[in-house]
Amino acid sequence: MKREVSIIDSHHGPYLDDPDIERDVLGSDATPILRRVNSADELIGVIDDAAAIISWHTIPLPQRVLEHLKNCRGIVRAAMGFDNIDIAFAANRGIPVAVVPDYGTEEVADHTMALLLALVRKLVTIDRLAKSGEWDWRGVGSVTRLRGRHLGIVGFGRIGTAVARRAQAFGLQVAFYDPYVPSGYDKVHGVARHESLHELLDWAQIVSVHVPLNPETQHLIGRAELARLTPQTVLLNTSRGEVLDQQELIEALKENRIGQVGLDVLAAEPNVPAALRTSDQVLLTAHSAFYADASLAELRYKAALSVRRLLRGERERNVVNGVTG
Ligand code: NAD
Repeated sequence: MKREVSIIDSHHGPYLDDPDIERDVLGSDATPILRRVNSADELIGVIDDAAAIISWHTIPLPQRVLEHLKNCRGIVRAAMGFDNIDIAFAANRGIPVAVVPDYGTEEVADHTMALLLALVRKLVTIDRLAKSGEWDWRGVGSVTRLRGRHLGIVGFGRIGTAVARRAQAFGLQVAFYDPYVPSGYDKVHGVARHESLHELLDWAQIVSVHVPLNPETQHLIGRAELARLTPQTVLLNTSRGEVLDQQELIEALKENRIGQVGLDVLAAEPNVPAALRTSDQVLLTAHSAFYADASLAELRYKAALSVRRLLRGERERNVVNGVTG
């Protein structure tokens, strides 16, 4: 009998119906079996013999589940974040935990530009007017030209860089703040580098945030940072809601200290505070930035490839808990 790769999904809002992509990738190495449950505890006694696991975020993998695993060669989180898995305990057991960090890079970058264009070109307003019978461009009020405006990117990794490339095609001037990328990234990408976040915010007319959420970046854009923006600034967040101090943002909106805001992510999803729901300055997109049929298929394909490498004892680049075999 072939080894089992357990794919853990939830009954509620499942991610896949048939592990066809995973079956193709794993071939004769293992059989993917969908284990759809309501809670972590239901996994005990069901996945104990799994040779590997693919985890979707809806069901956590805490110690009390992981301690039952007998033959597990690796866990792959089908996503970039891994907070639903006790990676330290997995490391103690010698089980590598890997992620898929790049499945939606293009989509999030495209989405960031879509938010920017929709806000600056006032698409929501003009659509509403046109459909109500008012076919008149004057209804949108003042519109600022995009070309030449200053885009400040916070976090110049995969998505931040992909946004920069797109923005350059629109004639924006681009700069970034990211203390962790090596010297010379600015030269390679033809953008400017700022050595402090506040310096970048003082320069930028559009701010786009692309950092991971961690203790250092929680509320990275807080009261002091929002105070550096102007009533004309466009602020975009497609990273994680908690990177932005949402309460401070709401205050800034109420006091007209910020221009327009595009948010794909919120602090406590799916709760949408009334102040954001009712503001014409705010565009919300319900954490959809990563999504395209192709990005989801790529995620599944790459997660399965990662499992196959772990099962074969091959090198896996995206291990996050230091277990490298
Ligand atoms: P990445 O790791 O390639 O880039 C993140 C960059 O942020 C890195 O270059 C890092 O040096 C930088 N950084 C870290 N701490 C910083 C700080 N304090 N100040 C400035 N820069 C800092 O990640 P990525 O692939 O570009 O993704 C960025 C984030 O986008 C992810 O962490 C994730 O939270 C989010 N994301 C959102 C969606 C969505 O659907 N909305 C989808 C995918 C990813």
